[in-house]
Amino acid sequence: MNFDQILKEIQKEIAPLFKEGQVANYIPALANVNPNQFAMSLQLFDGTSHHIGDVDTEFSIQSISKVYTFTLALHLYGKELYKNVGHEPSGNSFNSLIQLEYEHGIPRNPFINAGAIVTTDLLMNTYKDETFAKILSFIQEVCDDEKITYDKEVAFSEKEHGYRNLALINMMKSFDNITNDTHNVIADYFKHCSISMNTKQLCRSMLFLANHGIDPINNKQYLTSSQAKRINSLMLTCGHYDASGDFAFQVGLPGKSGVGGGIVAIVPGVMALSVWSPQLNKKGNSLIGTKALELFTTKTGLSIF
Ligand code: GLN
Repeated sequence: MNFDQILKEIQKEIAPLFKEGQVANYIPALANVNPNQFAMSLQLFDGTSHHIGDVDTEFSIQSISKVYTFTLALHLYGKELYKNVGHEPSGNSFNSLIQLEYEHGIPRNPFINAGAIVTTDLLMNTYKDETFAKILSFIQEVCDDEKITYDKEVAFSEKEHGYRNLALINMMKSFDNITNDTHNVIADYFKHCSISMNTKQLCRSMLFLANHGIDPINNKQYLTSSQAKRINSLMLTCGHYDASGDFAFQVGLPGKSGVGGGIVAIVPGVMALSVWSPQLNKKGNSLIGTKALELFTTKTGLSIF
């Protein structure tokens, strides 16, 4: 398959969409990003990769970080994890409070904010003050790139304006589903959301999920095959919040988005791919990114369905 040609076609076909969508503005530091950017990268098992657009530009990975934290927690705690966080789509927005109260502080899944905050708290039970350092070094390891770090300005901005996330963590604490100090947990949550990466790094880092938990390039095992299957199914059913069904319908791949405009997707047994374009649709997912992935699976037939 001529992937470079396909990426060129996609870049051309998404161009008219730059007039639509809006960058995330509830985190002021993200509102300043130039909206007219686009990058797409594919990482194959043999180490080869294909790229187009602003592929060296780093962006805030935001909720995509929830895949790494959940991977770490699943590795540490296995099925025990599901006592504190579910595995069912929420059908609500990523920062919704409503369901959390009537479901007694147990978030529906690890990919909405409440679920990722609980995951960070669980990691803190083991890693204590080292929690964020462990998360960052895990991301550097799966990406095979020690330069990856977080953006202090974005983390500060999230903290200054994180009223909803503070409400979520306090609600969960009231139901005894948070063990550690809420301020420490939320600070680490904001830091991991503020990690910056480019599309090249992003798809490289998720390759293990396309290969039953084992990185096919260096043979490092991060998860069991069964655990990797669970993460892929959660990405398919919950990776795009209340637009997860729509993403599965349009794209047909497990994927995870973030309000920085990034999306990572998995073609099991074949590749990991990533796309970035900062303008979001109404559900908080990259508008052009979703379209680009839809075009990719339509043109290549590489969807799981
Ligand atoms: N850091 C963001 C928040 O907590 C993550 C949201 C997202 O990417 N959907 O609101």
